[in-house]
Amino acid sequence: MRYRFVFRPYRRLFTRPLQTSHGSWDVREGIILRLSDETGRASWGEIAPLSWFGSETLEQALDFCRQLPNEITSETIFSIPATLPACQFGFESAGEGAQELLPLEYSGLLPAGQAALHQWQTLWNQGYRTFKWKIGVATIQEELKVFHQLIQALPASAQLRLDANGGLCANSASVWLQACDHFGIEFLEQPLPVEQFDAMLELSTRYSTQLALDESVATLEQLEASYQQGWRGVFVIKPCIAGSPSRLRQFCREHEIDAVFSSVFETAIGRLAALKLAAENNRHNRAVGFGISHWFEEDDEICLERIWKDL
Ligand code: MG
Repeated sequence: MRYRFVFRPYRRLFTRPLQTSHGSWDVREGIILRLSDETGRASWGEIAPLSWFGSETLEQALDFCRQLPNEITSETIFSIPATLPACQFGFESAGEGAQELLPLEYSGLLPAGQAALHQWQTLWNQGYRTFKWKIGVATIQEELKVFHQLIQALPASAQLRLDANGGLCANSASVWLQACDHFGIEFLEQPLPVEQFDAMLELSTRYSTQLALDESVATLEQLEASYQQGWRGVFVIKPCIAGSPSRLRQFCREHEIDAVFSSVFETAIGRLAALKLAAENNRHNRAVGFGISHWFEEDDEICLERIWKDL
């Protein structure tokens, strides 16, 4: 298959900076690409790198797009190297064409700290029943205090998952896991840094709360390595930076993993392709981590019109 290829970089502001234990993030930058086949039929893809999470940088993705000719083939797409996982995803999912979606439950992302106490109600009113709250941002004493208030405030039917983004140490992880066991938390995501895989594997056997790997399994290669090293807990999969969607699909099917599909704050173009993978591979019916539209000033439609209007 031959395609005419056009791409366009974009910038999108968050309503408020996203605080995680990696720091503060206030602008989402990425690339929208369009492939048109010989009949003129166009399909779209998105490259949404997250270099601090383990993908290529935006600059590397732009360099890759700039050096491509105006006309590319399926071979071009399937020979993108594994060092450019967000590019692999963007091009391959565009080549797959139109997306059909199955209904999925969404998890709404709460802001870190006290702000979560004000935000959950709005999301609840919009229909969210699963929430994610970031920890490892402030001191453990402050966060445990807000955690208890949040648990008290949330209706009994709500489900809560915590995400430490690798920001805990062995001691604080144990304190959090005891609290999680006590309150029936869905799972704790990436308690320790990526280098401490063995410690997380050990920790996963000591508490009844499930642990999820996220930063440790950013790319398909890391996902495969963690599985081979014995991880059987939850895997958070961010399709937009994981690499080739066809290989990801194959991996999920072969190993029947407990996967939670999650956003990297991509636009609707990347999200549709990611949700397609989620719908096909959500073995444990986990709420997908795509409840993030409230983090942007501008809705998807306006954002995409702005990116493409002058093409
Ligand atoms: Mg995470």
